[in-house]
Amino acid sequence: MKTLSLPLRDTTVDLDTCIARASAQAKPRLVAHRGEILALFDNYTGNGAWDFERVEDLEHFPKDVRADLRKTYSLTYPNRALHTLRSDLLSVANNLCPYCRLEEPSTLDHFLPKSRHEPFASFAPNLVPMCKTCNTLKGTKGSKNARQFFTHAYFNQLANEDRFVIAQVAVGARHIATNFIIDFSADLDANILQRLAYQFSILRLGPRYQLAAIDLIYTQAVKLAEMERDGCNAEVRRTSLEGDALVEKRIFGASYWKAALLEALATNEPFYTDGYHRAL
Ligand SMILES: [Zn+2]
Repeated sequence: MKTLSLPLRDTTVDLDTCIARASAQAKPRLVAHRGEILALFDNYTGNGAWDFERVEDLEHFPKDVRADLRKTYSLTYPNRALHTLRSDLLSVANNLCPYCRLEEPSTLDHFLPKSRHEPFASFAPNLVPMCKTCNTLKGTKGSKNARQFFTHAYFNQLANEDRFVIAQVAVGARHIATNFIIDFSADLDANILQRLAYQFSILRLGPRYQLAAIDLIYTQAVKLAEMERDGCNAEVRRTSLEGDALVEKRIFGASYWKAALLEALATNEPFYTDGYHRAL
């Protein structure tokens, strides 16, 4: 998971756009509840740090107003009044889904699902760029209770050096096996770590990283074989892997799957001495 900067949207203006475009029946209801909706927005962005306790029970909110607000999401579709909300949000992710960091973030995920948290259906801080695969796997999961909760890409601050994904590499007689796991001994808040582990499992990041690892190991094996032909010994090959790991770590963070994998390859002696030939 990668922390994203909070989108620079004026959420009051966005709400007013929704109200202006509402149907004749919905408009007076939304106008009457505008202050309460804005108070919900304030509570959502609140003190910055995100926690499950901040999720408000909306039972007191009239059902018809909730339904009106849920419908406003269609205004973010192309050529509709809030289409720039979608494009603005997708552009903050820098072409990588913040949750898997494998695929392009082409969809917006409702962090709190719009089926249960309707007032946040078109509220920028609740709309997180996500790839199609992650969004489908997440569905309406990740916000039901404190134990089954995702980290919030805008509000849960993770530093570049936070290392919570570990890659394991085993060089076998015929092939090279990888495994990706969450490091439960990572120096992170226990709640955050629990959520990272929960979403790691729901988003099937282990098997997805394993699949992506095949290409990266192949590319590295080609490089190491060339180095060997040029007379570089195992130590020089190890240093090359370590250097590549450092670059990924510096740019994408210590928990980026490529950084974790390269680091595992650089500390796996059987791999850089001779095992890489099995990937060719
Ligand atoms: Zn993703």
